[in-house]
Amino acid sequence: MSLQFKATFSALRQMFLCRFPIRVPQIGRKKRKQFCQPLSERFVGGPDGKGASFNSLNSVANKVGDIIQATDRGVNIQMASPGSVVDGDQMGALPMGAPSTSSGFNFQTQTVTITLSDGPAGTLPGSLSSDGQPLHSTPADLLSHELGHADSTLFHGAEDSNGDAVRTENGTRKMEGEPTREGHKQPGDVQVNGTPF
Ligand SMILES: [Zn+2]
Repeated sequence: MSLQFKATFSALRQMFLCRFPIRVPQIGRKKRKQFCQPLSERFVGGPDGKGASFNSLNSVANKVGDIIQATDRGVNIQMASPGSVVDGDQMGALPMGAPSTSSGFNFQTQTVTITLSDGPAGTLPGSLSSDGQPLHSTPADLLSHELGHADSTLFHGAEDSNGDAVRTENGTRKMEGEPTREGHKQPGDVQVNGTPF
């Protein structure tokens, strides 16, 4: 398992799986592969269609379930080193760099690509935090934010993409018991809670 995949997977697990422990078959090296399988099979009704639906796991899963279940479009997730430039964004720690970013829709591949910085995320200013303190982001917060942008781009014509991103991020923050984010760039510039879109 590459470091990059490990970081991405741990973010996904934080969002979806930590509250739903999964029994993993111990078959040597196949272990991790099978651990990933529930995302694509078990929670999408399972292979027999009788499992829990992925969307019913929690509010964030409900939000991004469309992406995971779509067969005609999707999201790529990649990691990039701090300092590298992706789609015009310099990856790195806030406030100088972007800890995460999303591409626009790629018509050829029918995908949006999410990039997470493979380093410290930095903090958003306290004015953007519900507790007034500098706001830290976990990989799950960052990925949730970008999946909100991606969902908006893929399914909602990118209408209120920033609001979609912040509300999806806040869904994860609430599950984690963290302070919530009070805007995208400025406090109150988007609706920060409630119906995702
Ligand atoms: Zn954003």
